[in-house]
Amino acid sequence: MIKDLIRSEFKEFIPYNANQVPYRVKLDANESPFELPIKVRKQLADIIMEGPSLYLYPDTDSIELRKTLSAYWGVDMEGIVVGTGSDQLIQVLVNTFVGKGEKVICPTPSFSMYKLDTIIGGGTAVEVPLKEENNFAYEIDEFIDKAKSEAAKLVVLCTPNNPTGNLLALKDIEKICSMCPKTVIVIDEAYAEFAGESAVTLLPKFENLIVLRTFSKAYGLAGIRCGYSLSGKEMANEINKVRPPYNISSLSQLVAKLVFEDREEIEAQIKYLIEQREYLCAELEKINNVSVLPSGANYILVKLPDAKTVAKELEKRGVLVRSFGDAPVLGKYIRISVGNKEQNDVLLEELKSIMN
Ligand SMILES: *Cc1c(COP(=O)(O)O)cnc(C)c1O
Repeated sequence: MIKDLIRSEFKEFIPYNANQVPYRVKLDANESPFELPIKVRKQLADIIMEGPSLYLYPDTDSIELRKTLSAYWGVDMEGIVVGTGSDQLIQVLVNTFVGKGEKVICPTPSFSMYKLDTIIGGGTAVEVPLKEENNFAYEIDEFIDKAKSEAAKLVVLCTPNNPTGNLLALKDIEKICSMCPKTVIVIDEAYAEFAGESAVTLLPKFENLIVLRTFSKAYGLAGIRCGYSLSGKEMANEINKVRPPYNISSLSQLVAKLVFEDREEIEAQIKYLIEQREYLCAELEKINNVSVLPSGANYILVKLPDAKTVAKELEKRGVLVRSFGDAPVLGKYIRISVGNKEQNDVLLEELKSIMN
């Protein structure tokens, strides 16, 4: 009965279902393998003991956190918006710019939230396929042509792309920003710490550009739900009209700031994970019938026969990886997040025994 009341376009939707099975090693969600740094735990403990004023609503503008981010990036505070994960900012961007039936251009395969948020917002997602035979490389002219022919309000591009791991060149970002001045160009850099370059350097040149970053991956803070956008002031001002008030809890603002300021620790973790990525790639390539795609992120897309069955078999042995079920292209792959050395070795050992 209640099902008859739901908006018709959502009738066949299935609620997001994170894999909740017991495991030894969790390499399915691109999380960091690192616990909160000891230094930050101590700082946090002191603040909690002093009384963190949790009876008050949080700072709705996340001022202290934005100051810290602004100093690091060299981007004016007025151009920074903080969200409950960068997920929330994707939704806020769609709701800010995309009216009923208006178009959002996004790649496929890529992060599923671009399309989902567009549909929920009443817009229309137009997907541009990244070609498997081309290692899923971006062909930026196809995005530019689609943005123009569809009069798109938004183009969302993910670099490194999830789940394929490939990068979008800065010169391509520059090209689409200048060729599509009436379209907002969103660059999702959720994994950019593992690739080393950022479109943030282009912000002074393009008022239609916005870059999304998150604390969930390289900063090891998926549990606090915190992300942010970097853009010109005018863009940030428009987004703030739609962003829900008090969207970041006081504790999340605090932890994000403390971890961001503990730079040496985080940078060492990133360096370690990049080394582990290269180790994992090299070792995976040695296994029978397994091939890997080059990755600029903290995960690797791996092609193997019977991917779905292999993922299930790994799960039975306590190793969680991302499977794409029977999806047309991705169904031939599994995505493995890069863990610490011990976790990676468990994965390698189990995968070897399955494949041989
Ligand atoms: C994980 C991820 C995000 C963001 O996650 P939040 O936890 O909401 O910040 C955004 N984009 C991509 C492509 C991701 O994989």
